[in-house]
Amino acid sequence: DKLQSCDYIARGVPVDHGAGTSKQLIGEALKSRVEAIDQDTCGVGEEDAFFVADLGEVYRQHMRWKTHLGRVKPHYAVKCNPDPQVLRLLSEMGVGFDCASKAEIEQVLKMGVDPSRIIYAQPCKTKSYVRYAAQSGVKQMTFDNADELYKTKQLFPGAELYLRILTDDSASLCRLSQKFGASLDTTAELLELAKKLELNVVGVAFHVGSGASDPKAFIKAVQDARFVFDQAATLGFEMHTLDVGGGFTGDDTFEPMAAVLSASLDSYFPPSVRIIGEPGRYYVSTAFTIACHVIARRTVTDATLGTTSYMLYLNDGVYGNFSSIIFDHQNPVPRLLKCGDAMLYDVRRSGYDTPSMTEYSIWGPTCDGIDVISQSCVFPEVIDVGDWLYFEDMGAYTKCSATRFNGFTDAHDVVYVCSEPGAGALLGF
Ligand code: PLP
Repeated sequence: DKLQSCDYIARGVPVDHGAGTSKQLIGEALKSRVEAIDQDTCGVGEEDAFFVADLGEVYRQHMRWKTHLGRVKPHYAVKCNPDPQVLRLLSEMGVGFDCASKAEIEQVLKMGVDPSRIIYAQPCKTKSYVRYAAQSGVKQMTFDNADELYKTKQLFPGAELYLRILTDDSASLCRLSQKFGASLDTTAELLELAKKLELNVVGVAFHVGSGASDPKAFIKAVQDARFVFDQAATLGFEMHTLDVGGGFTGDDTFEPMAAVLSASLDSYFPPSVRIIGEPGRYYVSTAFTIACHVIARRTVTDATLGTTSYMLYLNDGVYGNFSSIIFDHQNPVPRLLKCGDAMLYDVRRSGYDTPSMTEYSIWGPTCDGIDVISQSCVFPEVIDVGDWLYFEDMGAYTKCSATRFNGFTDAHDVVYVCSEPGAGALLGF
């Protein structure tokens, strides 16, 4: 509904499709929403934090993926941000989906996506969820241990299984291999058991860790996957698909990473092998900006140094959309939303020595001392109660892990804008 009523989409404004337009649309949306709130008279929650999402950014990321990783068919990792409009756009663009639970599978199926476009990429699954996948026709799923094979035999013997292997994820932001993945000295045993149970193992899956930074991790994982493909062939399996997982960031490391991955895929896997991936943060990280309201301020004076700094309290924090600070090792940069020009100041320590700079620490709204967004940052002007701050790049692992701790809401509005007419056309506006 919000999508329909969003001015910026309805007007179909975009003329220049570059990042400039995206920032401009987001700035206008932030401004118009904030200006519509009278904080002295507004109802409870009307001044809550909210997101602005540029769906054009998601569209551009997909085009970029197709250009640089054309061989890899993406299956968006829904866990990263299950925003309904993002899912709808990705579905329209023909992207598949990586789901990790019954609720995620259900959300994607309800959009009319064919079950063959979904992979249930969770090596340790809840039994009733496996039954649900079987009933829904979601056949592709991963495993990495013997118990999961027995479970599959009992509940879904017709499943199309991917053996998830261990990777070296030491250079990634969020390590996953401590929890999942079969080491290469166990894969023969697992494949033999699968054979004995007459299960259908169709491929290998890996994940080099979320927010990967070392392309060599991909090379090693592809080589290991080749080893397991060959092992499977000797046991009579005809594996046909390799799943290279996620881990890609949306920044300028993507192109070099994609080049290394593409080259190793071409070296080790003939074109007859289908390649899929499970990117999450790559698609959504930069598409979402959040605006938060300064609900309170405390003045801190240091008589010895003769300085004044401030503690700012926002209406969102680490128990809410800033959960990414704790779970995803992020460091969101606060910017001041100046209604009138919607331009901000970058908060950098380099400006710290400038006499006109004021120091702030930024806190969330709960009673917990861990709820801190920034221990120290500086702005060139005084920020007061009632001002708004915004933070860019808040699309990945943010609202999906927000809680209701202390009675604050975990449901924040999203205002959608669209800086790409191509995306607008797909979504029907
Ligand atoms: N696939 C699996 C199995 C995952 O566990 C994750 C993240 O935890 C992803 C894909 C998405 O990873 P990313 O957001 O780094 O692309």
